[in-house]
Amino acid sequence: MTDVIKLLPDHVANQIAAGEVVQRPASVVKELLENAIDAKATHITLVIKDAGKTLIQVIDDGVGMSSTDARLCLERHATSKITKAEDLFSLITKGFRGEALASVAAIAHLEVQTRTEEDDVGTKIQVEGSEVKNQESVVTARGTIIRVKNLFYNIPARRNFLKSDAVERRHIIDEFQRVALAHPNVAFTFLDNDSTLFSLPISKLRERIVNVFGSKLKERLVPVAEETDIVRVSGFVQKPEFARKNRNEQFFFVNDRYIKSSYLHHAVVAAFEGLLKSDTQPGYFLFLNIDPKSIDINIHPTKTEIKFDDEHAIYTLLRATIKHSLGQFSITPALDFSLDSEMATPYDYDKKKPTQPTIEVDRDFNPFKEEAKRMQQFRSGGGFIPKETPAWEALYTGIDKESTTTFESATFSDKEDFEKKRTIEGWLDSDFKAENVIGTLFEDINAKPSSNAFQLQRKYLVTSIKSGVVIIHQNLAHQRVLYEELLRNISVKEGVSQQLLFPLSLSFSPQDIALLANLREQLNTIGFVIEKLEEETMEISGIPVHISESSVQEIMEQLLDDMKQDVPGESFSQFDVLAKSLAKTMAIKVGMVLNQEEQEHLINQLFACKEPTLSPTNRKLLITLDIDYLDNKFI
Ligand code: ADP
Ligand code: MG
Repeated sequence: MTDVIKLLPDHVANQIAAGEVVQRPASVVKELLENAIDAKATHITLVIKDAGKTLIQVIDDGVGMSSTDARLCLERHATSKITKAEDLFSLITKGFRGEALASVAAIAHLEVQTRTEEDDVGTKIQVEGSEVKNQESVVTARGTIIRVKNLFYNIPARRNFLKSDAVERRHIIDEFQRVALAHPNVAFTFLDNDSTLFSLPISKLRERIVNVFGSKLKERLVPVAEETDIVRVSGFVQKPEFARKNRNEQFFFVNDRYIKSSYLHHAVVAAFEGLLKSDTQPGYFLFLNIDPKSIDINIHPTKTEIKFDDEHAIYTLLRATIKHSLGQFSITPALDFSLDSEMATPYDYDKKKPTQPTIEVDRDFNPFKEEAKRMQQFRSGGGFIPKETPAWEALYTGIDKESTTTFESATFSDKEDFEKKRTIEGWLDSDFKAENVIGTLFEDINAKPSSNAFQLQRKYLVTSIKSGVVIIHQNLAHQRVLYEELLRNISVKEGVSQQLLFPLSLSFSPQDIALLANLREQLNTIGFVIEKLEEETMEISGIPVHISESSVQEIMEQLLDDMKQDVPGESFSQFDVLAKSLAKTMAIKVGMVLNQEEQEHLINQLFACKEPTLSPTNRKLLITLDIDYLDNKFI
């Protein structure tokens, strides 16, 4: 047999290696920003066009490169940062593999323009797919400009794999924020399609956090600081009352490098024990400084995971330190009002004179008006105005109301019955988590539900159909109804809006405003009238008829969270995310009592849907128990 093994040509090897380093535009941004930091820049500008797909440019005022280095930096394993393997154990730079620029050069059009302090003229090199096309001397400022154009131009499969601009931009913003937070001593500017997304002056960490996430963070930060022989902990946690449902504002930095660690995250959450509402997450910006010898950052190609020699000790210390800070924070105002005005009592109660309480009577108050409004909205096909279940209602759940049959209305005479009920509930819950869907129900034309529905546990609607019993999850079902309706509204552009008496002013971080700006037109088509959308403010003068003014902030926040989520493999369109997100916030919730009419209306609406068995996020929303199945149970 003839010899078959060949050495891969360099450009092929580079392309393969690039796959590991460069997954998407954000990976390029990360590498270029880190190179600029390593080059000791004091001001870094990031410019992107079309979410980095067309252009990523990083300009720094760092040390620059000589013309030989400029040529060499594009070679694989070309690095100025380590010379021997032992150097790996005392790393203080971000990069060390010497792979990034070579990888990017293999899969994009790359241009390096650079000059050192000593040189009078700089160097400009243009590379396409690892091939140097041009090298010339240029007049340029000290520092380096790297331009990356047409990423993945020679790997169409990778290019097609990229997500929508909104998602790719979000990833870039994430990377940018991580680097910017880790280096408040460096000024950053971020231009996105010619508009300034961030402009961050050199500042202290607290201001940097506020400049990145918006001024609402100002009042939320609690400082954390502790130093021991093995580690120095510093940074901020957010006050527990501002905990959120998502994990967007959680950052760990080890030696100024962003890392992910579920173990350390757990330590933080443990420190917040008892202070958080369920389902919420604390926000934190925590910096650990540790001897590079006692960590291993070389275990993950994208270097966001890290191994500590003494993980357990760090865990314990972190938890104790944060606990201490939170404790201190809550007693600080009582001990010393002058310590930190941001932490003191917000209002000047000292100088306030007591006033006689006055009683105002609303003569127009009609306790049934709210209910009538709710019903009218529901009938018109929209969502309920979310209503808290009044406490008195709980007192009456034992009495069978004329129009409502709920599972609770049955009285449980003893513990055994109660357990039975619990088991049914648990069984239903677990069944709704199962993946499989019984999809045969609606193929049967006669499978219309009968009108004797009842509500179970304020969560499920139970009704009978010709072939048996159907159990519907009220929240997921309503999401489906709203989702299809919203999609219809968006596609025919017929969203109706209600004018607000006073425009609503909401505040968001600048990049959230930028995200919302991308959705402006779609929001408009479903009935949001947006007057202003700039800096940190969104001003709305009209909202869709089905939603209440008080839920707009929540709707927008949910929408932003959903936009930031990257669900791999799922078809992604902004319309779709918008409709899903709104449906989720507007839908009637578990725990809401529905009367007979409301139950039937929801069931009818659901059956009129194109896809009545799945929620917008593909969760099963109903199960059927057919007679055969039941018969079998009684054998
Ligand atoms: P690494 O950062 O792992 O060393 P890179 O491929 O990112 O590998 O960069 C290769 C080398 O090019 C770096 O070691 C550095 O010497 C030089 N370099 C890259 N970017 C810059 C920059 N912005 N300013 C100065 N030198 C740079
Ligand atoms: Mg690098």
